[in-house]
Amino acid sequence: MPNSTEPAPWIALAEILAVMPDVYRRLLDDHTPAANGCGRCRACTVPGTGSPGAVWPCSMHQLAVLARKIHDRPLRGRAE
Ligand SMILES: [Zn+2]
Repeated sequence: MPNSTEPAPWIALAEILAVMPDVYRRLLDDHTPAANGCGRCRACTVPGTGSPGAVWPCSMHQLAVLARKIHDRPLRGRAE
């Protein structure tokens, strides 16, 4: 396990997302701070209300950032 403060299940999930750039890019596009400056995620809304719910950065954003980090990490022996 590399040095990280992320719990192991997050790493496993992020590694799966890392091979799906379309998915994590979409998450990064969607899970952004709400425009009204409330400090909450515009995608993680309160159910039934459509108003921003989760405090930003939300867990989905953090997961997508981790996936991007894994994707962009130089791999030894990668044929590129
Ligand atoms: Zn969110």
